[in-house]
Amino acid sequence: MAGRLDGTVALVTGASSGIGEATALALAAEGAAVAVAARRRERLDALAQKIEGDGGRVLVCETDVTDEAQAVAGVERTVEQLGRLDIVINNAGLMLLGPIVGADTRDWKRMVELNVLGLMYVTVAALPHLLRAAGEGPREVSDLVNVSSVAGRVARAGSGAYNATKWAVNAFSEALRQEVTKQHLRVTLVEPGAVGTELASHNRPEVQKAMRGNFGDIEILQSEDIADAIAYAVTRPRRAVLNEVLIRPTEQER
Ligand code: NDP
Repeated sequence: MAGRLDGTVALVTGASSGIGEATALALAAEGAAVAVAARRRERLDALAQKIEGDGGRVLVCETDVTDEAQAVAGVERTVEQLGRLDIVINNAGLMLLGPIVGADTRDWKRMVELNVLGLMYVTVAALPHLLRAAGEGPREVSDLVNVSSVAGRVARAGSGAYNATKWAVNAFSEALRQEVTKQHLRVTLVEPGAVGTELASHNRPEVQKAMRGNFGDIEILQSEDIADAIAYAVTRPRRAVLNEVLIRPTEQER
């Protein structure tokens, strides 16, 4: 059966778990050849096996996107080996929560380096290729999807630095959208609420306990819910762009 992304190439960062892994599978199921980037090689190899087993084409990119040279190399390898670049999903991210008062600023640095700078490095390296793809077939449109968060719209006590990184993603995405939209490069901001992934597991035990207090009694989202939305966004007709997609669990109030 023909897929809606046949003939296209997508790069997904943070593809070794959670939302990135589910998105790589969803785009491959639509026919895209997919470059999967993250640091954990064995997880990427397992994902690649799954995609290939389903008849898809995949490239494993062991990449730390906080290192600009590695981010650029991941993009260039994708184009060299898969031939083009139509879709980039900037998904890699880290959430280290805790109050601003008394914070360990090393946590802030890690989040800024990944959530903001890593996303920006991948973006700037990918832009010439995405703009070229938008001018050519098969779709004459290309897509940059930046995974932000409800935390990019709603600030909370105890989440200040993470909020700041996601606010930065929103601002960067909107500025870029205005720069490239006439060239048919679509910029989409995806803002999930609580999703069941490994994201919270990097926090101190007391923070994880507080999070369970916030979300423990509601049915949270699954990675596939976000992957579905991303696949929907990148399969719209050339004339239409979803600039922002905010997806909360039905029971999440803020
Ligand atoms: P996961 O922790 O499951 O996934 C994070 C991914 O980022 C992993 O694949 C990890 O792979 C990758 N990553 C971490 N550091 C680097 C790095 N230096 N270079 C390359 N890749 C890296 O969490 P989610 O799937 O939940 O998170 C995905 C995105 O969704 C993030 O941007 C997050 O902020 C956002 N989000 C998540 C929500 C949730 O509730 N889960 C809610 C709102 C937004 P590896 O360790 O192998 O490098």
